[in-house]
This record gives sequence, structure tokens and C-alpha cells, in this order.
Amino acid sequence: MMVSLKNKEELILMQKAGRISAEALAAGGRAVQPGVTTWEIDRIIHECITSHGAKASFLGYGGFPASACISVNDEVIHGIPSKKRVLREGDIVSIDVGAFIGGFHGDNAFTFPCGEISAQARALLDATNESLYEAIRAAQPGNRIGDVSAAVQGYVEAKGFSVVRDYVGHGVGRKLHEEPEVPNFGKAGHGLRLAPGMVIAIEPMINAGAFPVRQLSDGWTVKTRDGSLSAHFEHTIAITENGPVILTKI
Ligand code: MG
Repeated sequence: MMVSLKNKEELILMQKAGRISAEALAAGGRAVQPGVTTWEIDRIIHECITSHGAKASFLGYGGFPASACISVNDEVIHGIPSKKRVLREGDIVSIDVGAFIGGFHGDNAFTFPCGEISAQARALLDATNESLYEAIRAAQPGNRIGDVSAAVQGYVEAKGFSVVRDYVGHGVGRKLHEEPEVPNFGKAGHGLRLAPGMVIAIEPMINAGAFPVRQLSDGWTVKTRDGSLSAHFEHTIAITENGPVILTKI
């Protein structure tokens, strides 16, 4: 496994990419409301990224046709923004966005409520968001990837939710997806040891029902098999001697 370590200068560049990613995500989130299309949200995000002189990491990545992945309700990840997808009251809207500047990527995601949402949806969003922070707290130098994975899995399964198995977090740097893989399920004390200079995207994808997912014929959109709701929260994290640092912050 080839895990790239970033030096202090590179981490400063990554902080810039992370901050723009976070600003784009926040701008997209502010636009989430009934009657808005996911295409309009993507335009706002694209405008935010380019206004900072950055490029949208996802645009053209593997042929992806937009700047953000926007996945609604039972869509888990990789939803394609569309003029036909009009948000409705009660939807939950997962937005995943990355920005590339100075040779480095930032990557982050958040699931936004559209107006008033159900108690079950609220519980799913809260648990997924909190599991991300549990995982970040576990991302200490000297700990292992399995400690991060187990933190997510333990937290959400105790709430009755399930962890998507087919997609995982990843290293981030000059490439959007680098080694190592960062699963949201696993055993504490196992896997690669975390070291200062590593940068990883931790991104729990959590289903209200069972964990199996399927990909639609558009070649991108991933949905829960059982039609249950799914949430997705993500931060890009630098492992430092002083502990984990969130790079995708405004
Ligand atoms: Mg990611």
C-alpha cells in the first residue's frame, strides 16, 4: 500500500482546498428548500468553487457530469443533479462536493433536511453526523484505521441503523481518491496505523434499513435496496502529532 504523507506546506494547501469545499457545501445547503431542483443547487456550488479560482473535483471525474453529487432520500451517493429533480418538503438531501486548488483536493458531504422532516429522518441525520465525529475523535496518530471504522459502526448500529458496505472513505491529496481505504465498518485495533501527515476522508454512509445497495442504470446513482432512507456526512481530516484536524471547515 502506498500512502502519501503530506508535509506542513502541503497541509496548508490542503486546508485551502478544504475550506473552499466547505464553503461550496454550505452554499449548496442554504439552497435546499421545497421547489428547488438539484440542478440549481449544483449550479450554485459550481459558481462558489470557481469564484475562488478552484475547480470542482467531481466534474468530469470518471465522466461524472456535474460539480456535486446530490442524492435524495433513498439515494445513498452519486446522485446526478437534474432539472427534473424538484425537492419536496420532508426530503433529505445528501450533497457531496470537492474542490481542487494548488494541486490538492478537499472532499466533504452533508445531508440537509428540506423543510420539516420526519422524526426517523432526523434521527438518521443526527446519528450519521455524530458517527462522523466519533470517527474523527478515533483518528489519533498511533491508532489504526479499524479504530475509525469501528467508531462509526458501533455508534450507528447501536441506534438501529446500518452501515453501507460497498463504498468506503479514502485517502485524499493530489488525487481525489488515494490509499488507504477507510471503511465505516471493521474491528478496532486492526488495519493500517495512522501517522502524522496522512490525510483521509471519513465518510459514513448510513441506511435507516438494511445495508445492501444497488446502482441505477444511469451508471452512477446508488440507492438502498430496500428503499429506506440513507444519509452521508464527510470531512477531510489531517492526522497530526496533536491529533486529527478537520480541513474541510470554513
Ligand atoms: Mg469522498
